[in-house]
Amino acid sequence: NQTIYLASRPRGLPTADNFRFETSAVPALTEGQVLLKARYVSVDPYMRGRMNEGKSYVPPFELNQPISGGVVAEVVESQASKLPVGTLVVGNLPWQQYSVSDGNGLQQIPQGQAPASYYLGLLGMPGLTAYFGLLDICQPQPGETVVVSGAAGAVGMVVGQIAKIKGARVVGTAGSDEKVAYLKELGFDEAINYKTANLAEALAAAAPNGVDCYFDNVGGAITDAVYDLLNTHARIALCGQISSYNDTEAPVGPRPEGKLLKTSAKLQGFIISNYYQRWPEGVAQLTAWYQQGKLRTEETITEGFDQIPAAFLGLFTGENTGKALVQVA
Ligand code: NDP
Repeated sequence: NQTIYLASRPRGLPTADNFRFETSAVPALTEGQVLLKARYVSVDPYMRGRMNEGKSYVPPFELNQPISGGVVAEVVESQASKLPVGTLVVGNLPWQQYSVSDGNGLQQIPQGQAPASYYLGLLGMPGLTAYFGLLDICQPQPGETVVVSGAAGAVGMVVGQIAKIKGARVVGTAGSDEKVAYLKELGFDEAINYKTANLAEALAAAAPNGVDCYFDNVGGAITDAVYDLLNTHARIALCGQISSYNDTEAPVGPRPEGKLLKTSAKLQGFIISNYYQRWPEGVAQLTAWYQQGKLRTEETITEGFDQIPAAFLGLFTGENTGKALVQVA
């Protein structure tokens, strides 16, 4: 039974040395417990923040303790009548092949609605981040222009498709020509490769009527360029800033306050855990859109428990299109 521990805290981009694999016996169960076998392990950008010391909206991972995150697992032994063998669950679990749980905090995955892995992506935390962030904060109206950065990722591709469902013009930024082509296939009106385009020119051409809503996954230079195009009463959902997660110095850039002031724009940060109470509403709507064929998704699945650190690091070089997952044999 392998477990991945936080061996040291990274400075800058994490390396393989920050992770340590240990092997132990599969634990025995007591009454009320289940043995879970990990099937899909989610790697997410927010985990980078948890590798640092210091106060944030979730406590840091502890040194020499297992790293944990979203996992789809199967009950392979059970001493809990509510969770019989074969049940698929999703929850926050250690990066471990086999783990023991009393079922607290685990959600059973409904059968026959969607592939189980989708409960870590489209129908899980990233999909709900897109749903609540876009609809609650940006509130796109028909005919408005929505820009989403990190558009080909787990959150971004859902944001763009929901904005299309709501009748908006949608522009996405992503880091390769393949991703740009994929976004067009998904129905984005325009997509821009931020690594090769002149951002200011490409965004101005893609959003000729200005930007009414900006869903910001990335920050940095892309955000600076979008802020130059904000319309009066624009709404900005500040979801993530992945371009600076590995910075060792505070980023320095244009100060956007004047642009927000001049446009009476509203900028609101949010954390998906603010919306836990409304989780069922979000899952129900996303599932309905998925089953009606209005929402599609993509996963980048890496095979093998030992590949979890590499898949995590791949988030920072753009190796994933859609949700980054590791399938555990
Ligand atoms: P993604 O699936 O989008 O994966 C990360 C992507 O970020 C990469 O594929 C890469 O795509 C892009 N990226 C990496 N480094 C940079 C960089 N320096 N500049 C620009 N783009 C970069 O991850 P998620 O969809 O899970 O998360 C997207 C964002 O949303 C993250 O910032 C995350 O922290 C945030 N988030 C916030 C939540 C909240 O509650 N507020 C909840 C969930 C996510 P590319 O090829 O385009 O460069």
